[in-house]
Amino acid sequence: MPIIQLNRLAAIINGKFLCGQDVAAHVPVKTISIDSRTLADVSSCLFFAIKGVRHDGHDYLEELYRKGVRNFVVSTEDTPLVRYSDACVVFVPDTLEALRQLAATVRHGFHYPVLAITGSNGKTIVKEWLFELLQDELKIIRSPKSFNSQVGVPLSVWNMTENFDLAIFEAGISQPGEMEKLARIILPTVGLITNIGDAHQENFQSQAEKADEKLQLFESCELIIYCKDQELVHQRIHSKFGNEVSLFSWSFTDNSADLLIRAEKEATATTLYFKVNGEGTSVEIPFGDAASIENACHCLAFVLATNRLTEQVKRRFSSLQAVAMRLELKQGVNNCSLINDYYNSDINSLEIALQFLNRQASFGKQPQSLILSDIRQSGFTSGELARVVARLVKLYRVNRLIGIGEELWKHQALFAADAVFFRSTDEFLAHFRPSDFKNEQILLKGAREFRFERIAAFLQKKYHQTQMEINLNALVENLNRYKALLKPETKVMVMVKAFSYGSGTVEIARALEFQQVDYLAVAVADEGIELRQAGIETPIIVMNPEEHSFEMMLEYRLEPNIYSTEVFQQFDAAARRLAVSDYPIHLKIETGMHRLGFSSADELAVIARRVPEEGRLRIRSVFSHLAASDDSMHDAFTRQQYQRFKELSDVVVRTQPNPVIRHLLNSAGIERFADLQLEMVRLGIGLYGVAQSAALQVETVARWTTVVSQVKDVVPGETVGYSRKGRVEQPKKVAIIPVGYADGYDRRLSNGAGKVWVNGHICPVIGNICMDMTMIDVTGLAVHAGDTVELMGGQIRLEELARWMGTIPYEVLTGISQRVHRIYIQE
Ligand SMILES: *Cc1c(COP(=O)(O)O)cnc(C)c1O
Repeated sequence: MPIIQLNRLAAIINGKFLCGQDVAAHVPVKTISIDSRTLADVSSCLFFAIKGVRHDGHDYLEELYRKGVRNFVVSTEDTPLVRYSDACVVFVPDTLEALRQLAATVRHGFHYPVLAITGSNGKTIVKEWLFELLQDELKIIRSPKSFNSQVGVPLSVWNMTENFDLAIFEAGISQPGEMEKLARIILPTVGLITNIGDAHQENFQSQAEKADEKLQLFESCELIIYCKDQELVHQRIHSKFGNEVSLFSWSFTDNSADLLIRAEKEATATTLYFKVNGEGTSVEIPFGDAASIENACHCLAFVLATNRLTEQVKRRFSSLQAVAMRLELKQGVNNCSLINDYYNSDINSLEIALQFLNRQASFGKQPQSLILSDIRQSGFTSGELARVVARLVKLYRVNRLIGIGEELWKHQALFAADAVFFRSTDEFLAHFRPSDFKNEQILLKGAREFRFERIAAFLQKKYHQTQMEINLNALVENLNRYKALLKPETKVMVMVKAFSYGSGTVEIARALEFQQVDYLAVAVADEGIELRQAGIETPIIVMNPEEHSFEMMLEYRLEPNIYSTEVFQQFDAAARRLAVSDYPIHLKIETGMHRLGFSSADELAVIARRVPEEGRLRIRSVFSHLAASDDSMHDAFTRQQYQRFKELSDVVVRTQPNPVIRHLLNSAGIERFADLQLEMVRLGIGLYGVAQSAALQVETVARWTTVVSQVKDVVPGETVGYSRKGRVEQPKKVAIIPVGYADGYDRRLSNGAGKVWVNGHICPVIGNICMDMTMIDVTGLAVHAGDTVELMGGQIRLEELARWMGTIPYEVLTGISQRVHRIYIQE
């Protein structure tokens, strides 16, 4: 990363100082941040306040100042920051544009080749693979993760320095007009387009329009690489760039392409045959799927088009690995959490993982440990790299560092005295016992050859192979799908009751807090206390508060749902005992569900009068619950509930000195009755991937899997399982899986009612489901012990499983037992 003095930087972006101009010549800017939540290096950081669709960076300026940030770029002249004598604030009319301008200026300072990759799929994989293939030949800087957006690209380009000799940046767009801006920043010399698919098609008139938009990235290129088999891409490139630019095309079928590739597939490997200067040769890749083959061909085309195919590069094709772009969070021994990082091991991904660690440890409230291997990274000398690592470890306040590998070992003097170092994973394993780790958040970050999965196995708590993967990205995606149906100012409460519908408590709440949801709702006080103890700060409402827990609730800042005069009096008494004032409460109004809630305007009026008079409590919200928001047959009833709610809530809203939030809609309500959103909504099942309409395109969040324990043949006349229900008439192959009704795999799924997915096939349950085991019919299929079985997820839909069980998705999710290991995935 470059270091630019703030005064020069302000000149680059045509900024005007609102304050701090006098010192700006002495302020070195090393890092740039646009996200107040993932900020680390506060002292040398410049914060760009960007107005996004969902968040506005300007809302966090004071908070950032309190955290120690002193340098800001803003797009409003009216900022509270000017009060602070040591703040430097630069005004520009458009902060995002200023960030682009800055990145474009940085880019202009370097003259080594820059490859830009665009296309609908495979951008990140092609980028990572090219890095793997060429890292010994070239010092390569590349976009971190899949940073390819309007903010991701400038942040990637900002990292360019003279230490490299090739840059690879991804560029992704979702609507017209975006690519030209990215092209200006990247200014590529070589372009590669992977393919044109259906992604974001809704924003374009036609595929051709989208292709043309993407190809704008290549205006500055001297060379463009593409696949000729994609007719549209070929045709658009020709008409746009014709004879002006050198084109390098590859094809599986077309002799006139620059590179003709014949792919010979085996089960898990593929050989790519091709000719170089008329001579036949080949490379092998350890993949058999079409997408991987296509991605490898793009890489091969780049390598050949730039004359870099050596024997060593050829060999490297055979050791390419799937690009895992995920973090996994698991329960560890002795109340530890294990964060397993499978990103390629580089310094950017280390920083991203440390940010995740910080969040899991609630920013220092829990001890943070890092077990780190040597990092292979081009562009740095070994001592330099260790120095950067040491800086990050300090910056992210890692409490315990365990370094593994010769490099770190050699440079251990650069680290704090209590850090420990080992030359190899074996040495580490010989030295530690699991009991040496307690109550820590542990990040495992190791390059592949260090085989950190052995450390993970050593530190993990549960070994039951029946597990549930929760995809945190999908969860956030779903949150945003629902938010998009609402006005920007409408608040969102998320229901995390019942172990977040079976998905886990603290982990889900952390992800939601990071997304800045306004409220979390739990069912009982215990669930709320657990969240507070884990460091969750978001306001929490307890839906079923019980009297004996009221003082604990007050202590842990849990806000009660008050559903009767009696509960009000009890809570008020507790508030008096603890001498609190202005404590938020929520009143529930009964409008047709006939569950908890006030149905009398008179009772409400009494409370509405007492609360402001006495000052101990404050009515923060009033709400009601819809009985049938998912059923069009009852839409008239739903609207009646709304009317009733309006009338009764008015009694409260009109009389309070403070604004009172009203909320009525659950997930189905948000989808179907957006006009009734009031000031807040309560999102539940939708977040976890169950929507009313396919149009909302919610994503699957939970994947429930197990692993085959044993496979056996059963001959005709025999039976399978208890009560001999599984009759065998033809020879059958049966697989036994370690999941039963004690895991929540309902006994009603017995005898073919339920089905699972194994190796690409749907297989029925055979016989009765046992407490801890189930038998499935895999006759005629290649299924072996150790194969993964999906019980629910992308192949076996939650809704379908619920139907087979004769129930609703809510019961399926909340019925998956605690014995099933929850693993959190972050991509
Ligand atoms: C559980 C619950 C919700 C959420 O309902 P979904 O159908 O899961 O969206 C909303 N409000 C109340 C009062 C609830 O108990």
